[in-house]
Amino acid sequence: MPDIAYVNGRFGPLADAVVSIEDRGFQFGDGVYEVIRTYRGQPFAIEEHLARLERSAQALQLLIGQTRDQWSCLIREGLRLSQFPETKIYLQITRGQAPRDHPFPVSSAPTTVLTFREFHPLDVSVRNAGVQAMSFEDIRWGRCDIKSVNLLANVLARQRAKEAGVFEAILVREGMVTEGSVSNVMVVRNGVVQTAPEGHRILSGVTRAFVLELARKEGIPVTESFVTREELLAASEVFLTGTTVEVLPVVRVDGYAIGSGSPGSVSRLLSRRFEALVG
Ligand code: PMP
Repeated sequence: MPDIAYVNGRFGPLADAVVSIEDRGFQFGDGVYEVIRTYRGQPFAIEEHLARLERSAQALQLLIGQTRDQWSCLIREGLRLSQFPETKIYLQITRGQAPRDHPFPVSSAPTTVLTFREFHPLDVSVRNAGVQAMSFEDIRWGRCDIKSVNLLANVLARQRAKEAGVFEAILVREGMVTEGSVSNVMVVRNGVVQTAPEGHRILSGVTRAFVLELARKEGIPVTESFVTREELLAASEVFLTGTTVEVLPVVRVDGYAIGSGSPGSVSRLLSRRFEALVG
């Protein structure tokens, strides 16, 4: 099956999908998106993702033309057409097509795009061994809680990580760890799971919320407050959370071993619990 795209009412092969160069997503990055993945063919946490999409759109005064039920129908239809064992579903809404001018157009219909591509989970050996990361200055704008298609600072950070041969760039603003370029970051210090608080500095990850809940259920104390880069390096464990990375131990940051230098017991436990939750 080819990759599938939906653009403004029509499904077709992704390779044939087009939007206008006057689309405000292309001109200004004036749009929002979500990424949902399937487990055993079923989309995971669809309500949470759609709720965040609505929050992001609302923050930008962007009208969404679809109800949650309509999104769900489109997602199911895309999955039916694509038939991959596991699928990465991408949803994007922009402020639509209009002559290039910064203020919102008086009238424009939003552009709605979904894509359906085969999802290849991280190799089990990578998850078991853990990954390396590097710290990188967080130069993003002041509303990282909005899942906007403006990802240039994330792109630059991830590119630097790739050049350095590490998996993720951990972003640091004014000495404080915010999140990863494509993930949330959690540390374990003195038996406490600590992660940056919700607010304008981070994207409130769907996976983050599930993992914090799992930690609480296990009786592991949780703190939502910032850690410094030094505290990150001195933590007994560091792990990433996200739709595509799930719970992924980080064993080295900036070349320094985290804890024993291999995935710690809390990361492994939460990874197993998350696996059970999605399974
Ligand atoms: N932060 C950023 C910057 C991200 O791009 C992502 C991935 N969407 C996350 C955190 C994790 O969010 P989620 O768990 O909802 O995938």
